[in-house]
Amino acid sequence: MIYELKNVFYSYDAVPAIAGVNLNIEESESAVIIGANGSGKSTLVMMLAGLIFPSEGTIKFREKALTPLYMRNKDFSIVFRQKVGVMLQNPDALLFCDTVKEEIAFGPFQLGWSRGKIKDKVEEIANLLEIKNLLERPSGSLSFGEKKKVCLAAILATNPEILILDEPLSGLDPRSQAWTIEMLIRLKEASKTLIVTTHDLESVEDFGDRAIVFGDDHTILKDGRAHEILEDIPLLLKANLIHEHAHRHGRYSHIHPHVHRHEHEE
Ligand code: ADP
Ligand code: MG
Repeated sequence: MIYELKNVFYSYDAVPAIAGVNLNIEESESAVIIGANGSGKSTLVMMLAGLIFPSEGTIKFREKALTPLYMRNKDFSIVFRQKVGVMLQNPDALLFCDTVKEEIAFGPFQLGWSRGKIKDKVEEIANLLEIKNLLERPSGSLSFGEKKKVCLAAILATNPEILILDEPLSGLDPRSQAWTIEMLIRLKEASKTLIVTTHDLESVEDFGDRAIVFGDDHTILKDGRAHEILEDIPLLLKANLIHEHAHRHGRYSHIHPHVHRHEHEE
């Protein structure tokens, strides 16, 4: 077992963000967290990343409780950061070096790789993500989509076992989106553990086989096979992932759920 969450709550002052979540993530699993805006996906991601901690309840990572004390332990946190690659929704939160090159080199440097090996890796990753032209730029000067690609590059550089990506496609241009989906499929095939959030139903099945649906009440409404969940119209309406939409067919007007997936579009 990679993660084990028991009765986890999190509030920002008085604002509830996670309200009683029980969740297990197994080795080599690909899980998609789906939920409307504000349902708590990013808060969950930050807890899984060991950046914030439950107000109530416990999170275990490989049988060990993820606590502030534990994360302050250098030995543990270095191993944890090496195993778990995290891309937050806001790329600014993760970029802190002077240049893009240094962002990508940071993880490998922390792991004590040789200069030559780091240089080769930066070049390989920059080629792969088509960001060679950005390497000497200060990351603060990049566009939102460029920053996201740099975050992804920085994660991939150390080849982590577990990847947690918060809304990886949002803000990316179509080619970068397609590339990201391809990459996630390759990572799945390589038996990496993937935890990916989205509010866009169209990409769910590309991201994973298991879907975990968060509701407006910040709890898990359903946890199951992605293809089954995508067919559960009442559930998707309740989770505010599709909406009732008035359509006029000839002389008749009726309301039916409007599903944001190509095969259902009218
Ligand atoms: P999601 O990622 O699903 O959109 P979030 O985890 O970002 O949801 O937010 C869950 C809830 O917590 C929302 O009601 C949001 O407004 C609130 N929230 C998120 N971040 C903060 C913050 N820094 N301060 C106060 N409230 C926050
Ligand atoms: Mg979010």
